[in-house]
Amino acid sequence: MKGTFPKEKFASLQTPFYYYDMELLRQTLDVIRREAGRHEDFHVHYAVKANANSKVLRAIRQAGFGADCVSGGEIRAALDAGFAPDTIVYAGVGKSDWEIRLGLEAAIHCFNVESLAELEVINEIAAEMGTIAPVALRINPDVGAHTHANITTGLAENKFGIAMRDMEHVIEQAQQMPAISFTGLHFHIGSQILDMGDFQALCNRINDLQTLLSRRHIDVASINVGGGLGIDYQHPNRVPMADFKTYFDTFARRLRLLPGQTLHFELGRAVVAPMGSLITRTLYIKEGATKKFCIVDAGMTDLIRPALYQAYHKIENITSDEPMEPYDVVGPICESSDVFAKRIDLNRCQRGDLIAIRSAGAYGEIMASHYNCRPIPKAYTSDDI
Ligand SMILES: *Cc1c(COP(=O)(O)O)cnc(C)c1O
Repeated sequence: MKGTFPKEKFASLQTPFYYYDMELLRQTLDVIRREAGRHEDFHVHYAVKANANSKVLRAIRQAGFGADCVSGGEIRAALDAGFAPDTIVYAGVGKSDWEIRLGLEAAIHCFNVESLAELEVINEIAAEMGTIAPVALRINPDVGAHTHANITTGLAENKFGIAMRDMEHVIEQAQQMPAISFTGLHFHIGSQILDMGDFQALCNRINDLQTLLSRRHIDVASINVGGGLGIDYQHPNRVPMADFKTYFDTFARRLRLLPGQTLHFELGRAVVAPMGSLITRTLYIKEGATKKFCIVDAGMTDLIRPALYQAYHKIENITSDEPMEPYDVVGPICESSDVFAKRIDLNRCQRGDLIAIRSAGAYGEIMASHYNCRPIPKAYTSDDI
């Protein structure tokens, strides 16, 4: 089974380009809203870093989501797309002074602070500006995620968050700082997580930390469990949406929220990955010594995930219905890692055939680079072509 695309409309467009299926995005947003909405006090913030295309951001904002940002540029993008400042949360281990000022000026919902050193600087800047910074502390829960090592963030060895043994000390410091208002705890254990056991382990850890803090009479208004829900990259047609119901139910069942606490989520990939495809054209078929290469006009500059994380994307020849043949699908960039897939079956390819690299709506367009002086790929939505 292959995806359905408006091929006639693609014919005149310069390749490579991203194509976003806005109908699928809206359906996904509806499901998230419905499933999160079953639980009181669940708030979903879209992780802007997955895809900051302005049309995508607007659709997500219109569906009523908040924004999760990891840089000043993302705060600007979220504000430009109309996200209300008080729905914006801001994480990152290396916030610059101008980025902190920008967040304070905009009066964002909260800073997810990742070290005592950062907390001190935010306190200084907020005091200087005569304001109070709402702060959640990002705790490194030392919980592994069964995902690629480069996208694991919640292990003690990772650079993210404050170590658990320092948590109480940093909260005490925060509570003594005049320009800091301590509001909650933040966690994010990694990305492309499909094993709900990983999220259960996070819940157990948070429950333990909450018990410890209650004993010390430390009030925590909000818990933020980050993002990380994965999607089915193997079967984009059969399974076009992540299992949001099981995901939210896992937290509803396992996490013991205290009275009045709000629970925040920061979903990125699961919101936008399935709706995007990178559309590229076959340039040449090259017969190698042991295999055939399908050389396409997209490369790792347009979609870096396969080169960066050995990520799998399903690839389809959307022009041809001829018998299947094995190919290595490679780009034009002067790097041996510029390979989208090895030994995959595609309908027989010829020069000019359009190839769809599926599930590329997250960490695709936004990670594009100018390497080899290549232009950044355009993006079209199903609403505008
Ligand atoms: C990247 C990131 C997310 C989103 O992760 P996904 O795997 O795309 O859902 C959420 N929170 C933080 C702090 C992040 O860095």
